[in-house]
Amino acid sequence: MRFFIPIFCITLSLWGFNVSKGKTLLLTLPSPSGIIASNDHNISVLLHPCDPTKGIAMLPIDYYALSGEHNLTWSAPGKKEAIVLTIVEGDYPTETLSVNPAKVTPPPEALDQISAEKEEASLLYATFTPVRYWNKPFILPIESNITSAYGSARTYNGTLKSYHGGTDFRALTPLPVRASNNGIVVLVKERYYSGGTVIIDHGEGLYSCYFHLSRFDVHTGDYVTQGQTIALTGDTGRITGPHLHFGIMLHGIQTDPLDLLKQIEHLFTSTKGLL
Ligand SMILES: [Zn+2]
Repeated sequence: MRFFIPIFCITLSLWGFNVSKGKTLLLTLPSPSGIIASNDHNISVLLHPCDPTKGIAMLPIDYYALSGEHNLTWSAPGKKEAIVLTIVEGDYPTETLSVNPAKVTPPPEALDQISAEKEEASLLYATFTPVRYWNKPFILPIESNITSAYGSARTYNGTLKSYHGGTDFRALTPLPVRASNNGIVVLVKERYYSGGTVIIDHGEGLYSCYFHLSRFDVHTGDYVTQGQTIALTGDTGRITGPHLHFGIMLHGIQTDPLDLLKQIEHLFTSTKGLL
C-alpha cells in the first residue's frame, strides 16, 4: 500500500504495512543498498536475489512485540521514505501439552546446562555473517503432516505458559532431515529442551533450526547444500512424542518459518514490490 501526504510532505511519501506478531515484513526496495531505521535499531538493505537493481529488507516481528504503529525510515543514496509499520495480534490457537515434568521444572543439576545453552544460542543468533549462502528458495526439511504450527499459545503440564516457536512435522519413525538451504552448520548438540539439535547459518542473520533429532549426519563447521541429509528425526528433549521441530531465527528473533519461506519464494516468482 502506498499513498502520499499532501502539503506537509511534498517529497516524502509514506508506506504503510500491517504485520502480525511472529511474522516477518519482507520489503522489496527500489535500490540494492540503504538501511531501514527505527527508534532502537537499523537493518541493512540486502541485495534482491533475482534483481541486482533492487534491495530487500527482512524485519521479523517478535511474538511479544507491542501492538500499534511504529515509525520507520528507509534511506538510500538520494532517496528516503517514511514507513508506518502497524503490528497487530496474530491469529494463533492454544495448545495444552503433557511432557516429562523434568522438562517443565528442571532438577537443580540441570540449571547450569540450561543457562549455558541459552547463552550460547543468544550469542549464535546475534552473529550476523555478511555472506548469503543461498541463491534459491528454501525447502521444507521433511515431507510430512504439520502437527503444530508456529505461534500456538502453549501450556505445559497445566502450569508453564509459552508459545510454539517453530513448526512441528509428524515423524513417528526416524526420517531423514534435509537442509532447508545452503549454509554452514554452526551447532550440533544434545540440548536440554530441544534435544538433538542442528543449526545452520544461511548468512545475513538467517538461521534454520532442527530439534529433537535422534542422529547427527553433520558436524559443526560443515558446509551443507540444500536437500542434504543432516540428521534423523527423533524424540529427544521436551516433547510429547517423536516429531521434527523446524524453526527460523532472523536477526535474533524467532519468526514463523513457513511464512518467511513463502515470502522468500515469492521473491523468485514475482517482481512485485513497492515500485
Ligand atoms: Zn515444535
